[in-house]
Amino acid sequence: MASKKVAVVTGGNKGIGFGIVKGLCERFDGEVYLTSRDVTRGRDAVDKLKKLGLKALYHQLDITDQNSIDSFKEYIKSKHGGLDLLVNNAAIAFKQTAKEPFSIQAKETIFVNYFSTLKLCEALFPLLRNNARVVNLSSSLGHLSQIPSVDLRSKFNSKDLDIPTLSKLMEKFVKDAEANRHKEEGWGNSAYSVSKVGVSALSIIQQRMFDQEAPNRNIVVNHVHPGYVDTDMTSHMGPLTIDEGARSALFAALDADFKGKYVWYDCTVVEWDAPNAPSQ
Ligand code: NAP
Repeated sequence: MASKKVAVVTGGNKGIGFGIVKGLCERFDGEVYLTSRDVTRGRDAVDKLKKLGLKALYHQLDITDQNSIDSFKEYIKSKHGGLDLLVNNAAIAFKQTAKEPFSIQAKETIFVNYFSTLKLCEALFPLLRNNARVVNLSSSLGHLSQIPSVDLRSKFNSKDLDIPTLSKLMEKFVKDAEANRHKEEGWGNSAYSVSKVGVSALSIIQQRMFDQEAPNRNIVVNHVHPGYVDTDMTSHMGPLTIDEGARSALFAALDADFKGKYVWYDCTVVEWDAPNAPSQ
């Protein structure tokens, strides 16, 4: 008998991640893991779903902690032998009112949103089964047009860009921010935006690598903008509910018949490298 399919969502205890876990519990044909960095918050979220008549499994996972990543990987490998869906949702954003200097915000934001997402992918990708899907949560602020410099944009958009070179670009942003040269170097003034441009560029490279290295395995990577959503990250300013914010990720996870694309909150495909992003 074939083993049951397995889905994993990072940062599933609240916000859009919780909405994605909820939608997967309703529609995914297999086991759904809600993961969170904090065990109490994660287990409370699983209980909340239980009260709605939905069953999510739980495992601790802090994407910034290599021990946590390694334990989770070993757990999934020994318990299930493989993985069918990975939703990289966990991320941070400093508030406009944050007191930390920009250099610290840049370092921390790139570390969590880009490098830690990449580390988790490196750990879990060897477990992906044929026809597996990966959904990376980007943002409208991850649209390539958010980077002011033409030269940087052409680097991000190069068909030959590989992960080490992309990571070097991310490191350069952190160094430029440390030297307070990020604006003159053409990065703009949002560390969150740079981190999400990194996540989108990463998604495109990941799809290209799967297509080149394992064309028959049909592994699908898409990146999504969930919309402007009523969550802690937006200080509850977004007009969309978390169920509405989960729509594009659920579409990419379960319904999309394309790969390597940037999916907008209304489930349409947007050109990542177009001169402008559509309004959100
Ligand atoms: P949120 O309410 O702040 O939730 C973020 C989730 O990520 C929380 O569960 C948080 O856990 C978790 N997380 C943070 N650092 C983590 C780590 N090191 N390891 C594991 N989990 C971690 O944010 P959201 O608004 O739902 O955003 C979800 C995703 O959508 C993010 O990727 C965000 O960038 C993207 N997005 C959101 C919007 C929007 O309008 N809300 C728009 C565009 C894109 P804790 O509870 O422990 O902090």
